[in-house]
Amino acid sequence: MAYSLLVMKFGGTNMQDAQAIRHSAGLAARSIGAGVKVVVVVSAMAGVTNQLLRLADAAQSGDIAAANDEIAAMRTRHFTAAQDLGAAPDSETVREIRELHETLRQAIYGVYLLRELTPRSRDLIVAFGERLSAPLMTLALEGQGLRAHHLTGGQAGITTDAHFGNARPLPGTYERIRDRLGGLLGAGVTPVVAGFMGETEEGALTTLGRGGTDFSATIIGKALGADEVWAWKDVDGVMSADPRVVKDARNIEVLSYGEVMELAYFGAKVLHPLAVTPLRESGIPLRVKSAADPDFPGTLVQEAAHNEVGHPVKAVTAIRRVSLINVTGAGVLGVPEVVASLFDAIARENITLLMVSQSSSMSNVSLAVQSADAGRTLAALRRTVTGELNIEEQPGVAVLAIVGAGMRGQKGVAARLFGALAQDDVNILMISQGSSELNISVAIEDAQVESATRAVHAAFHLGEPAAAAD
Ligand code: ADP
Ligand code: ASP
Ligand code: MG
Repeated sequence: MAYSLLVMKFGGTNMQDAQAIRHSAGLAARSIGAGVKVVVVVSAMAGVTNQLLRLADAAQSGDIAAANDEIAAMRTRHFTAAQDLGAAPDSETVREIRELHETLRQAIYGVYLLRELTPRSRDLIVAFGERLSAPLMTLALEGQGLRAHHLTGGQAGITTDAHFGNARPLPGTYERIRDRLGGLLGAGVTPVVAGFMGETEEGALTTLGRGGTDFSATIIGKALGADEVWAWKDVDGVMSADPRVVKDARNIEVLSYGEVMELAYFGAKVLHPLAVTPLRESGIPLRVKSAADPDFPGTLVQEAAHNEVGHPVKAVTAIRRVSLINVTGAGVLGVPEVVASLFDAIARENITLLMVSQSSSMSNVSLAVQSADAGRTLAALRRTVTGELNIEEQPGVAVLAIVGAGMRGQKGVAARLFGALAQDDVNILMISQGSSELNISVAIEDAQVESATRAVHAAFHLGEPAAAAD
């Protein structure tokens, strides 16, 4: 297919040092050289986002020395990359990187003085990683003889609500992006957008949630009506399981938007859970591609599912660090209003429920939440219900899910899942199947999740290729 416009996203590993950045710029340059307009969207250098979160926490707890040491190390890393990419010490890029670190240092000092780290200040701080890597990509593209210009997410037109840490684009975003990036593209300049962030209408910096650069890229892809969005990664594509856990995990050639969303929601770190939502509305395909092997097709994500004979399940994935919240109280839970008030309380706190189950005897309701949300969940429920109910947290749980559109209407899939788990001596704490029939999920002991993932992967033969069928 002859493309006219592509959005290319480069992840943390693809931006980790000068060599990786130069390689990434080369991948964009290949398409630009072939006459394609490209918008480049970049993540922070690998590890920088976590480092920023750590140093913000250090400042809040009063350890300004530790925070400053980390900032100094980060500055050296960015300066070294700029230098390796050919920037002179008095160049614009070096000056910009110095200024960004100075602003970061001041923001961190503010946190230290106030001993207060609000979601809003955390967003400002954590987004420095992408703001710092964007100029490096510009430098690398210029090094390949191209014209490039970098922008923050807000400057590129991404406008969001004020839900700091997990912001969502506002409808006006799309037109604004067309305005801001259209001119650059028209003038033959490659825009380099710092991923992961947006801006409220008042101009406060927001972030789109961890892994949010994928989401930035698809928002821009939708706005510009790109032919495709390419997410370059350090893996071959979306795999049948996390390749760090399952050695024979295999690349999946085609996935539907729905399948990818389920996978991401159930913990596959490879894409942001909302990344495909803008594309879904406009039918733009997403390709997950390997930067190490650019001619390998990777994974194509599109509207239609592509079911493979003998592979009703396409992938197995897991969410770690989960807690079950068990609510018990014979009789009381039979009253519909009581159960409704439990869900109300959780919704008010904006807590994501991973799984829910209610026993038919109506004496027990179990909720699976991220362990990080367990304290808030317990508090919200205890505020809501009377003393007749007993509410307890069971930590150390994981949710394992199998995903695949081919499961729909297929008998025996659940039996095979439970059989594989039983054979691996894994005790199932809770079961749920979404009404979309795109997934079946089970809560199990966290300590058993890696071995269980391997057992399930083997039971569904996910490491072996299968013949494709309609
Ligand atoms: P990026 O910075 O490029 O977005 P991430 O580290 O966020 O990269 O995501 C890619 C990583 O996701 C891979 O290195 C891999 O370890 C992990 N991963 C987990 N599950 C899967 C899966 N099913 N397919 C591919 N990668 C996965
Ligand atoms: N750097 C951010 C993160 O680590 C965003 C991203 O990489 O997509 O979450
Ligand atoms: Mg990511």
